[in-house]
Amino acid sequence: LFGFRKFREALESISKYNKYVNAFVDVADPQTIRDQAEESARRWESGQTKSPLDGAIFGYKMNLCTKELRTTCGSNMLNNFKSPYTATAVELLQEAGAITGGKLNMDEFGMGSHNVFSNVGPVRNPHGILDRAPESFDNVEDRSAGGSSGGSAAAVASKMCFAALGSDTGGSVRLPASYCGVVGFKPSYGRISRWGLVAYGSSLDTVGTLTRTVDDAKTIFDIISKEDEKDSTCLTQRQRDAIAKALKDFSDKEAKLHEDSIRNDPRPLSGVRIGIPQEFNIAELSPATKELWKRGIRVLKDAGAKVVPVSIPTTPLTVGAYLTLGTAEASSNLQRYDGIRYGHQSDVPDEKDELYIHTRSEGFGKEVRRRILLGTYVLTSGSFNNFFLRAQKIRQMVRNDFDRVFAQPNAITGSYSPIEDRIQSDRVHALLTPVAVETAPKLEDVFGDHIDPITAYLDDILTIPPSLAGLPAMSVPFAKGLDDNFPIGLQVISQYGDEEMVFKVGRVLE
Ligand code: GLN
Repeated sequence: LFGFRKFREALESISKYNKYVNAFVDVADPQTIRDQAEESARRWESGQTKSPLDGAIFGYKMNLCTKELRTTCGSNMLNNFKSPYTATAVELLQEAGAITGGKLNMDEFGMGSHNVFSNVGPVRNPHGILDRAPESFDNVEDRSAGGSSGGSAAAVASKMCFAALGSDTGGSVRLPASYCGVVGFKPSYGRISRWGLVAYGSSLDTVGTLTRTVDDAKTIFDIISKEDEKDSTCLTQRQRDAIAKALKDFSDKEAKLHEDSIRNDPRPLSGVRIGIPQEFNIAELSPATKELWKRGIRVLKDAGAKVVPVSIPTTPLTVGAYLTLGTAEASSNLQRYDGIRYGHQSDVPDEKDELYIHTRSEGFGKEVRRRILLGTYVLTSGSFNNFFLRAQKIRQMVRNDFDRVFAQPNAITGSYSPIEDRIQSDRVHALLTPVAVETAPKLEDVFGDHIDPITAYLDDILTIPPSLAGLPAMSVPFAKGLDDNFPIGLQVISQYGDEEMVFKVGRVLE
C-alpha cells in the first residue's frame, strides 16, 4: 500500500526538516493529502491502481502552474498568483494517481544556480542535517542546495516527497540534483509539454524530474512524455514514432554487426561506447571531482563499456551563447508582467509608463532585472548581429559537435553520414562528465552582494552544452565527495531522443 505508507513519511519529514531546508513554500492541505492517500490505498487493495505512481506524493517547482496552490515563480511579481489551469505534466501525473504535496522553492523565474534568488529566501542543502536532531540544526554550516530547482532537489533528498518536477533551462535540475544527492533528469527538448511551465528561455526550457532512483525517473518520464496540442514545440506522436524508428533501425544494424562479441558478454554495457569530452576537464574541477569522474569511468568499463576520449570543441563558447540566447528570450517572455494583466501592480502612480516602471522595479529581484537588461541589450538593433546572431551560430556549431561524436543518428537534424560509417567508427552512444566543479558550496560563498555574477555564470559550463543542443542528460548521484562527505553527481548525456540510453548508463552508475 505504497501511497498510504508514504504520505506519513512525507508529512513527518516536512514538519521535521522544512523549517530549516525551506524547500516547500506551500504545502497542500494535509487532510486532502490523507483522503487521497486513503483512496489510493483502496485502489492498491483492489488491484485497480491507475499507474505505478498511484498514491505517490509529488512536489512541483513554483513555476509549474497548478489550479490548487500558488504559482509564484519565486518572485514578488507573482506572489499572489493562482493559475486558472494546471500544467500538462502535472495533470498527467495527477491522472496517474499522484498526490500533490505542495509547491517548491526556486530561483526567481529559474535564474540562478544556488536557489538564493528567491522571494522567500534560500533553500539549504539537507545533507548536513538529515541524521541530526532538530535542536542542533542551527549549529550546522549552511550549504547550497543548488538551483534553480533547489527546492525540488532538497525535498526529494530529505524524503518530504516521493519525487518532484523541476525545470531545466541550462542545468537547473541537474546541478541541484548533484549537490543534494538525488537523480536529476532532463529529457530531450520537446519530449515533455511545456504547457503550464512559466517561460524563461522558451527554446531551452524543459520539464525535468528529481527522484531517488534512475528507475523512478524512467517511470515518471514514461507517464509525462506525451504529445500535447497545447504546446507547439512538444513532439507529436508521429515525430516520436519516427525518432523511435530511426534509433531502432540503427541499433538493430549495430547489434547485427557486433552480434558475436555482445552475445558472449553478458555485462549490462557490453557493446556500448562512452565518450569522455576532453573540453569538460576544466581547470576549475576540484581534485575530488576529477578523482570521482575517473572512478565513474572505471565503473562503466567494468560493466562492459568501451570508453574513448572525444572532443566537443565549442564547449568554451557555450556559456556566452547560452546567456545571450537565454536572456534575450527571457527579456521577451517577462514583458508580460506589466502590472495590468496579472501579478503585482504598483500603487504609486497612475500614468501608464510610470506604472510599468514602478511595477517592474518593485516586482522583480536584482538578478532578474540584470538579465532582462542584458537580454534587451543583445536584441537592440546595434548589437543584434554581434551578439544574438552569433550566439545562434554557436548553438548550431554545438549541435554539430554532438552529432559528430554520437553514433546514433539525430532524428531531428537528419544524420549527415551513412549509418554504416557510424557503426564502424569510434562514435559513442553516451558521454560521461561531471555535473558541477565541486560539492555544494557554503551558502555564504554564493549569497550576497560580494558575488560576481560573471564568475557564477561560468560555473554552469558543464550543464549548458547539452541544453543548447536539446539533448537528454541526467545527473546520477555517484559518490560522496572525498573530502567533505557531501554528494556529487556524474552526468550522462546522449543523442537527441535517446533517453533510454541515458537510463541504461545511469543505472550502472547508481
Ligand atoms: N544556472 C543557469 C541560469 O542561471 C540555469 C538555470 C536554469 O536551468 N533554469 O540561467
